[in-house]
Amino acid sequence: MQKDLCLIKLGGSVITNTAVHKEAKPEVITRLLREIYGASQELGIDVIIGHGGGSFPHIIANKYEVQKGLVKKDSMKGSILTLSDARELNSIFIKCGAEIDMPVFPFSPSSFTLSSKSKISDGFVSQIKEAMELGFIPVVYGDVGIDTIQGVCIISTEEILRFLSGHFKPSKVIFGTDVDGVFNGNPSAAGAKLVTELNHGNIEGIISAVGTTKKVDVTGGMRTKVSLMYEIVDATGATGYIANATKPNVIRNILMGKPETCTVVRK
Ligand code: ADP
Repeated sequence: MQKDLCLIKLGGSVITNTAVHKEAKPEVITRLLREIYGASQELGIDVIIGHGGGSFPHIIANKYEVQKGLVKKDSMKGSILTLSDARELNSIFIKCGAEIDMPVFPFSPSSFTLSSKSKISDGFVSQIKEAMELGFIPVVYGDVGIDTIQGVCIISTEEILRFLSGHFKPSKVIFGTDVDGVFNGNPSAAGAKLVTELNHGNIEGIISAVGTTKKVDVTGGMRTKVSLMYEIVDATGATGYIANATKPNVIRNILMGKPETCTVVRK
């Protein structure tokens, strides 16, 4: 029988210092991995973890406009440098897991997916299923992909989780970011309120009210997160959570089914 499965995204703004090129926060990564591993073992559930790139790939991606594809003379170089920065952070992430004896196993989306205009159109997941049966915890991350329309693209972590949700049927999907959830406007503006539930009744209005991000981000910020989360929830019937992963135990509590301040996303 298939165990319950949870897809968890840890934002680049949580696990890196977004103001400094290639500065990871290993202590935050380790804390979050402990929370996830502890809860998944207590509950006996499977998890697939995805992490964002933050200040590792986004700065170079932005410089070479990798999100637009092979658009200039040095686009190939830019895409390779971006991919290499994304891998560097993934390597730090995986080592943090190994150091606490967590069986995290990395899968590079550039190697198992094909995209069309930044949307994954094809991919191979048998190796991920097999790894999970062996007891590994798969880890994917925002990456550069080969794209049939624009040559190369940025595959956001949310897009990878959307693609995986079609193959793995999650019951919960959690996006951990650096704010308490989705606000009805810029969260730092006076009067902005946390939206505690998103569903078919308010999703369209909220998507148009949500901004992107002030940080360097080539994947569209909060608006894209909300759209892709709703797409996953709508297609799979999973419950979604957008929550603050910078606060200790928030991700653990959501996994454990305990109440937390966050945005819950339902069909
Ligand atoms: P991550 O690194 O977790 O993927 P991003 O930096 O891409 O996160 O997106 C999170 C940011 O989105 C928040 O720090 C916030 O500044 C910004 N944001 C813009 N509009 C909203 C909104 N309506 N609700 C929540 N966050 C928003």
